[in-house]
Amino acid sequence: LRARPELVAELAARTHVILAHHPVHDRNGKVVTTSVTNFDIHDIARSAATYGLAGYYPVSPVRLQREKIERIVSVWKKEITQAGAQNRGEALGTVRVSASIEEAVAHIEKRAKARPWVVATSAQTSALAPCVAPVELFAQRVADPGRPLVLVLGTGWGLAESVIAGADQLLEPLYGPGEFNHLCVRSALAIMLDRLFGRDSEARGD
Ligand code: SAM
Repeated sequence: LRARPELVAELAARTHVILAHHPVHDRNGKVVTTSVTNFDIHDIARSAATYGLAGYYPVSPVRLQREKIERIVSVWKKEITQAGAQNRGEALGTVRVSASIEEAVAHIEKRAKARPWVVATSAQTSALAPCVAPVELFAQRVADPGRPLVLVLGTGWGLAESVIAGADQLLEPLYGPGEFNHLCVRSALAIMLDRLFGRDSEARGD
């Protein structure tokens, strides 16, 4: 299926990323709200645009943090437009700040008029949600046209159990050859998007 570019593009165009700053774990396993990291806004927007996604929702329940995200987006948009790098400005156009994961999902549902399929992510598997490999997720979602796909990523030490338990599936964790598998969220997302929507030269017909 992945060899068919029209299917890849169609699914990507109904896929959204949520970056949760709450509810997430801190290093002691406590559920907390993290602060926004500048790079996460810009770099994830660029990944979302590169892989043709429908939207990117940074989520924070803290009004000042949401305002900070809006400010980052508007400053970059202005700088980018002035520099003539229009395509990078377009990447930031997919950003929509929300107060909660539920609010972001409700917004996606309203736009698509269909219940989104929500997939949580973690560096570990969990008994709280069925695990799905990227290739299976792709095939299953292509077979369910019209339904938006939502990938939820965490900050801090990862998503709280309540988010994983409330998701339809958990994406199979990314593993390297060794035991250490804690990627920064920007890197983790880029790898996930490439596994779901990436094309090699052969698929591109180069
Ligand atoms: N220990 C945390 C966990 O189990 O998710 C790592 C948190 S990491 C700094 C922040 C986010 O990046 C995670 O919530 C997840 O979305 C993503 N992430 C990091 N490493 C990952 C991996 N190996 N597999 C899947 N997702 C990963």
